[in-house]
Amino acid sequence: MANETYLYFDAAASAPPCAEAMAALTDAYSAYGNPSSLHVAGLSARRCMEHAREQLATAFRCKPEELIFTSSGTEASNQAIFGLAAMRGKRAKKIITTDSEHPSVEEPLRKLETQGFSVVRISTRGGVLDLGQLERELDEPIAFVSIMQANNETGAVYDIAAVRRALNAHKCDAPLHCDAVQGFLKLPTAAAKLSVLCDLVTLSAHKIGGVRGAGALYVKSTLRNLPPYLLGGGQERGLRSGTENVAAIAAFGAAAQAKSADRERLSAINELREFVIAQLQGSGICIHNPPQHLPNILHISIPNVLSSWSLNLLSEQGICVSAGSACSAHSQKKGNRVLESYGLPKEEIESALRISFTEQNTLTECERLCEALRTCTTLAARSNRTAERHSV
Ligand code: PLP
Repeated sequence: MANETYLYFDAAASAPPCAEAMAALTDAYSAYGNPSSLHVAGLSARRCMEHAREQLATAFRCKPEELIFTSSGTEASNQAIFGLAAMRGKRAKKIITTDSEHPSVEEPLRKLETQGFSVVRISTRGGVLDLGQLERELDEPIAFVSIMQANNETGAVYDIAAVRRALNAHKCDAPLHCDAVQGFLKLPTAAAKLSVLCDLVTLSAHKIGGVRGAGALYVKSTLRNLPPYLLGGGQERGLRSGTENVAAIAAFGAAAQAKSADRERLSAINELREFVIAQLQGSGICIHNPPQHLPNILHISIPNVLSSWSLNLLSEQGICVSAGSACSAHSQKKGNRVLESYGLPKEEIESALRISFTEQNTLTECERLCEALRTCTTLAARSNRTAERHSV
């Protein structure tokens, strides 16, 4: 059963669906026909889906036919990366990315490394993309470039406009893919720019107030011959076979429309972030504040307190935060590639927490969160002292 009583500070994992998305979802469930069927029920489902495509295209500032619906951001990035590798692999084997991409980009790239591609990972130390290193790597033919817009763990925003300028300056014709799953509708002018700057962009519904189970890949109309990743009935103009999740797509479109109009929302969210930073001053908690950051993600470390310990303590009080990306929470892999790339020392990585906000959070909730975080530090200090006494 869904629990309505918790304080939710994990919107970067999955944001609560907005009212408009829930209404569209419910409506779309009654359009149960297959959107590829030519009868009236199929056409009704298709209308629902095409309406969502238009809503998303308006929010992302592109043509509706430049959007391919997928099941998730992960699938959209896999489509982009394997598609680009197949399309460009004969011309060049060098791929450029960053050292802090989400696993849905990093893992496909690792697979390509086993198939003869070389992958150069540009440093994002301190949350800043090293543009000098990027420029130095553009001295030979490049298969493609994949650089995220905003990091899902630290909230750091990378300068995609500067990446485009660097590619142009070096007359590099490599297509540019951008994972904009966290940045979409969180940065005021970014949507308008990304469809101009990039050839392919990954989006995901459940980070913007839609529901899980829908993503999209923007494919610029000038990028021709991108081969499909999923083969089958040829849906989505042949680029993504499989019957579309019409209800989740309808909710995606409704959420994109509802949120895109709302710029004040972003500064309201940023105020919550600033409020928490101010409240935590002097508490001993380390705030990792990249120079350019999303308004909704705050990354901290509580010295000497393992993330799993504070996460549980907070969870017992009904407070949800995360210790990194939700996708890697069950991973058996040691260490944290993203936080190491950021340059955090081991102790701060082990004690890292991600707090992520929506406009539904209130200052009172934030006060409760800060109180609980301060309690974590006090309890940890007490148990450390006890441990010291025991060890004497
Ligand atoms: N890219 C980033 C930056 C993300 O944060 C996530 C999810 O956390 C994804 C991609 C994957 O999106 P999805 O959950 O829709 O597969």
